[in-house]
Amino acid sequence: MKINVTRTSLPPFEDYCEEIRKLWDSHILTNMGVEHDALRDALQQYLGVPHVVLFTNGHLALEAALRTLGLPQGGEVITTPLTFVSTTHALVRCGLTPVFCDVCPEDGTMDAAKIEPLINERTVAILPVHVYGHVCDVDAIGAVAERHGLKVLYDAAHAFGVRYRGVPVAQLGEAVMLSFHATKVFSTIEGGAVCCSDAALARRLADERNYGIRDEEICVAAGGNAKMSEFQAAMGLCNLRLLEGELARRKALDAQYRALLAGVPGLQMLLPRPGVTPNYAYFPVLFEGEGVRDRVKEALAAEGIGSRKYFWPLTSAVEAYKGCPWADPSATPVAARMAAQVLTLPLSADLEPEQVERICALVRQALATSA
Ligand SMILES: *Cc1c(COP(=O)(O)O)cnc(C)c1O
Repeated sequence: MKINVTRTSLPPFEDYCEEIRKLWDSHILTNMGVEHDALRDALQQYLGVPHVVLFTNGHLALEAALRTLGLPQGGEVITTPLTFVSTTHALVRCGLTPVFCDVCPEDGTMDAAKIEPLINERTVAILPVHVYGHVCDVDAIGAVAERHGLKVLYDAAHAFGVRYRGVPVAQLGEAVMLSFHATKVFSTIEGGAVCCSDAALARRLADERNYGIRDEEICVAAGGNAKMSEFQAAMGLCNLRLLEGELARRKALDAQYRALLAGVPGLQMLLPRPGVTPNYAYFPVLFEGEGVRDRVKEALAAEGIGSRKYFWPLTSAVEAYKGCPWADPSATPVAARMAAQVLTLPLSADLEPEQVERICALVRQALATSA
């Protein structure tokens, strides 16, 4: 049987039908209806943030945050190239210039010690990513930002449900973007959010999401359309009820991977920093040596097992940015090495322990034969 790198969890069919039945009564399918409001309230409670502004996807949530934080056009934003292209695209599409900071080899998050040399008079913000659900050095990043008067917006697309020293990541930063895409730990099919504690920022985000329309006669901003529909919110409400069980299953699979791959020569497992309560969103491993990663990937594929080179290429190395002066993978050597070595192994809540055993046996076998 084929094993995909991720598999979307779904609630029982009847639960979803029950949740959306009221939409057939009301005929209100979008524009912040009862399902939207219920999910928003539930997430504000679960994440412990005063404001969760829901969007139709994480990418538009990120763009909305960049547009509403009051960043000067053309400003430079310090960010990471070891991420999904969405992070970098959002900056470029909002008229901002990415400046890439290198990452920590242990967990792949932005190396806070390398931020300060990148700051100049054009720098306006920092956009770090809690990549793989590994929490950034939020204290050090916050201190640098404060010293230089910079805004910090976190891309927490991978980090739903993650805590740092007991605090949900949604609370860490001026604004925090979440993704609820079907491949993420918590899904609303497509979906996303920006979390913040500033009521005025939340208001601007809501304007940005719905054409700047406040009511029938009042339009206050040139906003776009990025609303979460009732069907998406209903899926979120169903999935939120299942979240604790999902996280527990992921945790057990992660532990099994770690036990079976411990001490394998030429293989390094990434580890979140102390104090992180992970969500076990991904299982990235690094393979030493030229081409080893690709050979392992092929060996798994030959057995019907999907894996992903998350994140290869670096966003500073994609074709879209060829020739851009700021897109230079050699400026971030640690990220470049990780991108060349990383392979994300299958991990989803319904993966079977026997499947993890088989995957690990194949990885060890592929390493032994390519040594
Ligand atoms: C998924 C993802 C996004 C975009 O979120 P969507 O909901 O898919 O639009 C942004 N950044 C990172 C790091 C992601 O993994």
